[in-house]
Amino acid sequence: SQYVLEVKDLKKYFPIRSGVFKRTVGHVRAVDGVSFDVKPGETLGIVGESGCGKSTTGRMIMRLTTPTDGKILIDGKDITHAKGAALRESRRHAQMVFQDPYASLNPKMSVGESIAEPLIVNKVLSRDDAFERAAQLLDTVGLRRTDITRFPHEFSGGQRQRIGIARALALNPKLIVADEAVSALDVSIQSQILNLLMDLKHEFNLAYLFISHNLAVVRHISDRVGVMYLGHMVENGPKSSLYADPLHPYTQALLSAAPEPRRVKRRERIILQGDVPSPANPPTGCPFHTRCPRVMDVCRSQMPKPVMVHPEHWVACHLHG
Ligand code: SF4
Ligand code: MG
Repeated sequence: SQYVLEVKDLKKYFPIRSGVFKRTVGHVRAVDGVSFDVKPGETLGIVGESGCGKSTTGRMIMRLTTPTDGKILIDGKDITHAKGAALRESRRHAQMVFQDPYASLNPKMSVGESIAEPLIVNKVLSRDDAFERAAQLLDTVGLRRTDITRFPHEFSGGQRQRIGIARALALNPKLIVADEAVSALDVSIQSQILNLLMDLKHEFNLAYLFISHNLAVVRHISDRVGVMYLGHMVENGPKSSLYADPLHPYTQALLSAAPEPRRVKRRERIILQGDVPSPANPPTGCPFHTRCPRVMDVCRSQMPKPVMVHPEHWVACHLHG
């Protein structure tokens, strides 16, 4: 397939239940119609404030939660409702690296067992060969082959994240979904892990869906960037184009608040008024209209459609198109 990942009009509504009989009284629209593609070997960064639907999008792609509507294709195969063998097959192509390497590694399993487990469970390699591969993978992520017999608590946070990455690599995936993968680490360790991820991308032609609230981190690692707000993707473009000419007022506000290298001319700080509306009761029209400094009448009633403004750089905002 031309794409390693295709997401089409993806939605996740969580029911809100109330009363003794737990009747459904409404829905939280965590993800409300998101579409994007990732090419082989490409890194798509997804940014937005917490609660905008980034993690839920990542979890649906990994099928850790089932979509309410829409489609997910991995390497051209529709896995939206895949079960059993088909789901296991899709997991060979897409793996996840989590924020908290402490929680994602079983403390009772040796590092070798943790990394070899997916190979053994999927019957890819014999036990002995799986452990040999685990030792190789430790070397690949910058740890020692002899670390294979040690346990997670013997490692630092950064080392544990390297172990999590080794485990994700075991099945030779084409796509890794990384959700806040460096957010829990010290800044100096963050750049080591980001550099490791970029080296691995070139070595194995990996694609990443790199989810983060940190614009500087996303800028460092991504080829393209998608900006999410209140369950919608409001802008998506090549990194250079998006950071040089952010088109959506929300993207402009996010970038104006982010620290920039001193050489770059500082953007005027845009302070957003009010809070992010509740996804249980989202605004009509443009989801950003309640906080947008450039809101117009049309924004309150009509949802803007995505418009391509620069090559491969689109925005959903009535100011454009
Ligand atoms: Fe602001 Fe209107 Fe654009 Fe929404 S559509 S971002 S409210 S200008
Ligand atoms: Mg999150």
